[in-house]
Amino acid sequence: MKALSTVAEKVHASTTLAMDALAKQMKADGYDVIGFAAGEPDFPTPDYIKYAGIDAIVNNATKYTPATGTVELKKAVCYRLKEDLDLDYQPENIICSSGAKHCLYIALRAIINPGDEVIIPTPAWVTYNEMVAMVGAVPVTITTTEAERFKLTPEKLEAAITDQTKCLMLNNPSNPTGMLYTRDELQAIADVCVKHDIFVIADEIYYKLLYDGREFVSFASLGEKVKELTIIINGVSKSYAMTGWRLGYIAADKRIASVMARYLSHSTGNPSAPAQAASVAALNGPQETVEEMRKAFEERRNYMVERMNKISGVSCLKPEGAFYVMMNITELIGTEVRGTMINNADDFADLFLREGMVCLVPCTGFGDDKFLRWSYATSMENIKEGLNRLEHILDVSLV
Ligand code: PMP
Ligand code: GLU
Repeated sequence: MKALSTVAEKVHASTTLAMDALAKQMKADGYDVIGFAAGEPDFPTPDYIKYAGIDAIVNNATKYTPATGTVELKKAVCYRLKEDLDLDYQPENIICSSGAKHCLYIALRAIINPGDEVIIPTPAWVTYNEMVAMVGAVPVTITTTEAERFKLTPEKLEAAITDQTKCLMLNNPSNPTGMLYTRDELQAIADVCVKHDIFVIADEIYYKLLYDGREFVSFASLGEKVKELTIIINGVSKSYAMTGWRLGYIAADKRIASVMARYLSHSTGNPSAPAQAASVAALNGPQETVEEMRKAFEERRNYMVERMNKISGVSCLKPEGAFYVMMNITELIGTEVRGTMINNADDFADLFLREGMVCLVPCTGFGDDKFLRWSYATSMENIKEGLNRLEHILDVSLV
């Protein structure tokens, strides 16, 4: 057999998907495991959306559509962007594809030349680094710390920019940190991007999941020049509990959108037609169910954060958006827990799964091996029991 692609061979499998699959497999094998790895709402897709999908199938919307999505869907995306974010886009600016993950890939494909540098503030979702490498670019990570509330500063961004910098990938609110940038913080970052003429892939997929009455500011809303450089990534997965439908969308300058359209016409073709119809219903329909889910997430977040910060050995910041908590285990590093030396988050994840039957994602792949990610997109009952088990495993009197 000849050599395989060297780029492809270097790709690491997604830890988030792997940990979620592991928890599900263990459960199927009869283990009493509780999974906090899945980054997907535990709620069902709302009925009015499901029925729109069923109607589409019954009425034969089961054929090819334009590669970048139906006009109806693009209009629904424009409507939602205007309604929620006061952004003016036309259908020609919109590209729909099979999930926001694929939208990110297409966005990179449209702008990257081999050797270009892409700046990624970390901790960042595990897929960013891999995807940047997959398109032949160089990931340039900027470490942000808990003391900085895991936020990129304009100074750090400025210092990382070189002649090769093509783009910044900014996820707001962030998976895994849960942090949300304020308007002023975003504006300061945007000014640097405009000064150096670099693109911004603004992954805003969690924009509807904000807590404590916070305001979401879309990167593209920060001025005409910023909008021209911004490629918005969004989708229906998180806001409407539609992860399995696989529908994401992009809003970008028409020149960029047309390059993406040509690329898509030779790669995936259109996203699933019934999923497009269901997404039209999601985007155009009543938004109350989103608010119900958001409230449930907020309640769970409050509970999880309060309890976690009372358990000695671990701590966390209070997330402002999305549905993840980053648990800091710095105090446990170099100590033994239940006879196991903890050198990093992977050791703890391993131990907690083996001895506590709780599945978390170590943040090693996100860029910080002293943290583990809990998703609170699971029932309050699971959250309570998961934290009971954390208390139990860390209770020194039980060692
Ligand atoms: N961006 C971020 C930050 C995510 O956490 C996810 C979740 N998988 C995605 C994009 C992709 O979402 P999807 O492909 O389900 O639309
Ligand atoms: N974004 C989710 C997560 O971080 C879904 C899994 C994935 O695609 O990585 O868990």
